Amino acid sequence: MHIEQQKIPQATAKRLPLYYRFLNNLYNQGKMRVSSKELSEAVKVDSATIRRDFSYFGALGKKGYGYNVEYLLSFFRKTLDQDETTKVALIGVGNLGTAFLHYNFMKNNNTKIQFAFDTNEGKIGTEVGGVPVAHIDDLEEKIGEDISVAILTVPSSAAQGIADRLVKAGVSGILNFTPARITVPDHVRVHHIDLAVELQALVYFLKHYPLDVEENIESDEED
Ligand code: ATP
Repeated sequence: MHIEQQKIPQATAKRLPLYYRFLNNLYNQGKMRVSSKELSEAVKVDSATIRRDFSYFGALGKKGYGYNVEYLLSFFRKTLDQDETTKVALIGVGNLGTAFLHYNFMKNNNTKIQFAFDTNEGKIGTEVGGVPVAHIDDLEEKIGEDISVAILTVPSSAAQGIADRLVKAGVSGILNFTPARITVPDHVRVHHIDLAVELQALVYFLKHYPLDVEENIESDEED
């Protein structure tokens, strides 16, 4: 994803795919414009944040008119590099890995899981969700120059070792679904998603910070 980093703050950049998906749906329904209020309700970001975000995109909404859907979409397409497909590898075809392979990431954005890897002989040579499963020993050879992103769904104990190999093979982004915190060089970006922790956090917040209905809107966290 090529975003003009110096111009768009990271917090805004993170919301881009969300906006893009929603606006694309609107466009497909034939809608030409959208108000920040409508957007706010749909993507659960407050409308002041949306207005500020969109001002970075050079889109200035007009009162009583809203934003031009087509203009925004063409901006997002350019910014998100939607013309180019990012090839992804998935390591660990267990329950979670299998679910991801069946989930069609292509529907909403241009990423494609090209190869999956595992150590289990019973899985190697099969296809899961249309993706071939290769032996982990063939990781470096298959990844080649093409694959820049990897999804890690191996057991925690294997996470660091695999991450080291991925980095050596030239991967620059890792989506880590294992509970293990992995260490990588500065030029590699790791996004860590621990589903168990997320669920626990949600339950904790529900218990201790009950929401007012009015506040049920994601707050803006600027980096
Ligand atoms: P999940 O955590 O996805 O629910 P699971 O409980 O089915 O998975 P795990 O033991 O977590 O199984 O392993 C996930 C997958 O990772 C399995 O298919 C396993 O064979 C594979 N795996 C384990 N070690 C490695 C490794 N070093 N390299 C690649 N794959 C591995």
